[in-house]
Amino acid sequence: MDPIRDTLQRLRETFRAGRMQPAEFRAAQLEGLGRFLRDHKQLLQEALAQDLHKSAFEADVSELIMCQNEVDLALKSLHPWMKDEPVAKSLLTQLDSAFIRREPFGLVLIITPWNYPVNLTLLPLVGALAAGNCVVLKPSEISKGTEKVLAEVLPQYLDQSCFAVMLGGPKETGQLLEHKFDYIFFTGSPRVGRIVMAAAAKHLTPVTLELGGKNPCYVDDNCDPQTVANRVAFFRYFNAGQTCVAPDYVLCSPKMQERLLPALQSAITRFYGEDPRSSPDLGRIINEKHFQRLQGLLGCGRVAIGGQSDESDRYIAPTVLVDVQETEPVMQEEIFGPILPIVNVRSLDEAIDFIKRREKPLALYAFSNSNQVVNKMLDRTSSGSFTSNDGFVNLTLPSLPLGGVGNSGMGRYHGKYSFDTFSHHRACLLSPSGLEKLNEIRYPPYTDRNQQL
Ligand code: NAD
Repeated sequence: MDPIRDTLQRLRETFRAGRMQPAEFRAAQLEGLGRFLRDHKQLLQEALAQDLHKSAFEADVSELIMCQNEVDLALKSLHPWMKDEPVAKSLLTQLDSAFIRREPFGLVLIITPWNYPVNLTLLPLVGALAAGNCVVLKPSEISKGTEKVLAEVLPQYLDQSCFAVMLGGPKETGQLLEHKFDYIFFTGSPRVGRIVMAAAAKHLTPVTLELGGKNPCYVDDNCDPQTVANRVAFFRYFNAGQTCVAPDYVLCSPKMQERLLPALQSAITRFYGEDPRSSPDLGRIINEKHFQRLQGLLGCGRVAIGGQSDESDRYIAPTVLVDVQETEPVMQEEIFGPILPIVNVRSLDEAIDFIKRREKPLALYAFSNSNQVVNKMLDRTSSGSFTSNDGFVNLTLPSLPLGGVGNSGMGRYHGKYSFDTFSHHRACLLSPSGLEKLNEIRYPPYTDRNQQL
C-alpha cells in the first residue's frame, strides 16, 4: 500500500475518464471554492491570526477577497476562456479551420508557502480547476492553522475524485515529487525552486516557479518624502514584512535619506502607535527559526528606527537600518520581515547599475514626481513587475500577471493568465477530407516546380 500512489491513481482515473472536461463540472468546483470562502470566512481569519497574527483587515484584503474575486472572475469567464481561439490563416490553409485549443494538462501538483497561505494556495487552485485539471495541493506545513483548515474543511467543498490535499514538510514533499505529475506549480524560495525543477526534469514535467528575492525601491530626490514614507512603510510592514513582493530595500541619496527618516518614523507611529508591539494591526514572525534569522539581520548597519524585538511572541518592531554595506547579510538575502535597509546612491544611474548588478527581482519600485525618471528606471531594468509611486497594488488587478523573471521565477498567473498557465495550448488545423485536386501541387516529382519558387 502506497497512499501517495493510490491517491494519484484515483485522480488520474478521473482525468482519463474525462470527468473534468465539461464546463459544468469545472464550474461546480469553482462554486464549491466560493462557498468554502464564504462559509468559513471567520475560521480562515482565525487561522491566519493564529499563524501570523494577521489582522482581519489584512486577511480580507490580501487573502480572502482576492480569492473570492478570482473565483467570481473564473466563473464568469469560464465559457469564453474555454472556447477555441481562431488564428490567422495562410493562402495554403484558407479552406481549413485553424485554432488553439486550451486543454488541461492532467494531474497538477500545487506546492505553496506560509506567508499568504490562503491566497497563494487558492489562487493557483482556481486556475488549475477552471482549466480542467485534477489537483494535488501541498500547503505549507509551517502555517499550521491554515494548513489544518485547508486539509480538513476545503476537501468537503470539492469533488474528491479530482482533488486531494497532501501534507508534510521537505521530506514528504520530496517523496511526492518522485511521482510523475503533468504540471507542477510551485511558490516558495529560489533554493527549493531548484529542488522542485530538478525533480520535475526527471519526468519532463513543465513547471511554474513563483519565487522570491530582493525587491529594490528607488526613491528620487524629486518627490514628497512623507507620501513616499507612508506608501513604503505600509507595503514594507504589511504582514510584518513577510511578503514576496514587498519593497526589500530603499535606494536613495543621502539628502533624501535625511528627509525620509523622520517621515518613516511618523508613518510608523501613525500606523502602529507609539508602541507598535501593542498594535492589533502589526503581524508577527511566523516561527522561531525566522525570528532568529531576522534578529541576526538587525545587527547590520545602524538602527535608525525601531530595532526592538521580543522572542516570547516573535515580535520585531518596524525597523529602518542605515549605513548598510552591500556585503552585509541584510543586503545579500531576502529579508522577509519588518526591516527596511536604506542604501545610499548618488544618482539614478548609480541606482540602475546597483539593481542590474544583482539578480532580476520579483518586483521593482520607483518613486519620483518625474515621468522621465520613472521611465528611465522602467526602460533600463528588468523585473517580474514594475510599479511607480506605489506598492504591490498591481496584485489586485487580474489583468496583470504575477510572476518572476530569472532568479525570481518563471511563468505567471492570476485571472486569465492562470487559466492559460494550467492549459496546454494545442495547435489544431482541421482540413477538409476532399478537394484532393488542390493538393496535387505539393507532391513530388518537384522537377517542374523548382523554377516557380
Ligand atoms: P520554501 O521554499 O521554504 O517552502 C515552500 C514550499 O516548499 C512549502 O510547501 C514547503 O513544504 C516545501 N519545501 C520546503 N523545503 C523543501 C524541500 N527541500 N523539498 C521539497 N519541498 C520543500 O518557502 P517558504 O519559506 O514557505 O516561503 C518563503 C519564500 O517564498 C520566499 O522566498 C518568498 O519570496 C517566496 N514567495 C514567493 C511568492 C511569489 O508569488 N513569487 C509568494 C510568496 C512567497
